[in-house]
Amino acid sequence: MIRIYDSLSGKKLIVKKPKTRSLKLFVCGPTVYDLPHLGHSRTYLVFDIFVRYLRFQGWKVFYLQNITDVDDKIIQKAQKEKKQPLALAHFFEKKYLRDIKNLNIVSVSRYARASNFIPKIIKQVKILIKKGYAYKIENEGYYFDISKFPDYGKLSKRTREQAEDAVSRIDESIKKKNKGDFCLWKFPKPKIPAKIAGSKNFVVYQGEPLWRTEIGWGRPGWHIEDTAITETFFGPQYDLHGGGVELKFPHHEAEIAQQEAASGKKPFVKIWMHTGLLFINNQKMSKSLKNFVTIQDFLKKSIFKNPANVLRMIVLSHLYRKPINYTPSLAKDANVSLNVIEEFLEKLKMVIKNKNRQIPKGLKTTGIDKLIKKTENKFHQALEDDFNTAQALAVIFDFISSCQKIIWDLNSASAQKILKFTEKTLKIFGLTIKPLKIPNKIIKLVKKRELFRGNKQFIQADALRKKIKQLGYELEDTPSGTFIKLTQNG
Ligand SMILES: [Zn+2]
Repeated sequence: MIRIYDSLSGKKLIVKKPKTRSLKLFVCGPTVYDLPHLGHSRTYLVFDIFVRYLRFQGWKVFYLQNITDVDDKIIQKAQKEKKQPLALAHFFEKKYLRDIKNLNIVSVSRYARASNFIPKIIKQVKILIKKGYAYKIENEGYYFDISKFPDYGKLSKRTREQAEDAVSRIDESIKKKNKGDFCLWKFPKPKIPAKIAGSKNFVVYQGEPLWRTEIGWGRPGWHIEDTAITETFFGPQYDLHGGGVELKFPHHEAEIAQQEAASGKKPFVKIWMHTGLLFINNQKMSKSLKNFVTIQDFLKKSIFKNPANVLRMIVLSHLYRKPINYTPSLAKDANVSLNVIEEFLEKLKMVIKNKNRQIPKGLKTTGIDKLIKKTENKFHQALEDDFNTAQALAVIFDFISSCQKIIWDLNSASAQKILKFTEKTLKIFGLTIKPLKIPNKIIKLVKKRELFRGNKQFIQADALRKKIKQLGYELEDTPSGTFIKLTQNG
């Protein structure tokens, strides 16, 4: 039974009865006006791992993500760069999808661009107008009247904006009924001249992408894009809504108001799963502080062999809803952990290959099955209890360290079992650990050294070890042969 902390009720709720094992999940995707940064990557990594885990457990997950390609920020940037707003959005959508791929995020079933759902958006706005939740401000647009929806504020426990909220400029109007009312449909400003509009259904006028609809020319507000998309795929109610904690207010609050008001059905979603913030050296990431790290830069300029794994390891080692404070030393630690796993897998492979080796007498290999079973149980218990990847990871490292103590005494079959189990858990985490590529030159030197050792020419053998070390590799003499690894120089 999987329990997840629901941000709305403040309780850990059962995701669904195990019998059903199908899940409709929506996670707020990017507003594509710039390159995504490390903060974004956290949310997408968390849900990638979450869905990998559920699917591994036999769940059928429909993981839907929107792409906000109509938005004030996009329009502003496009005007500055003298580009068409949708073209700019789709340029950054490509960059986003490339970064996602490079991060080994593969779980999303469907990406949905807001611009493809205009008819559905209009349908929702019309229902809200008809039911009295939406009102028109002449020359400005349709707005949601939060005073008509008494539950407004139930998710974030507030109805007022705070300085750090992610809000949209189009929500501003001095003619609004309540300060917190938000825009559903924005009219063009100034009006499109008839000779430009002609018989077209879509134009870009004064830098704004605009659609001709039954409620007039215009473009959608941010929040209604998401509920129109989710209602199309999932209907008015679904299982789990995810996203960064910074989107709770007003974005998610507005989503609840729109969908519950439109359908009259409660609750909009059964569970709200919010991911925590990512800080850089104790500071919030922001362009003004110049501590803004894009995913692209992180992956390209990294000192690590596999920076995507490093980032994933950092995410895994924190509970998803707690903040992460990114520091260079945190990344280094994550990389060390990855090296531990890599070394462990390679040693197991050495043991497996060495079938004819004499196993010391009296060694109990029957304990391995028990150890694996015990580890597996603890691993799943951790993930079932509010998707505690940090705990699950600790269980795996305990297992690795127990196995390492006896690794050279294992027979081939036991090593095989351990390898299979470890690889299975790494797959759930989405960690692809590739073996270190040892240059031929090093392999030749190691073989030469082995010959010296065989002939008891220890002085010569030792000289070679030193030479190999200068080339960046360290040797460990094991009962299964020489184990080669990179020199760890901090
Ligand atoms: Zn959203």
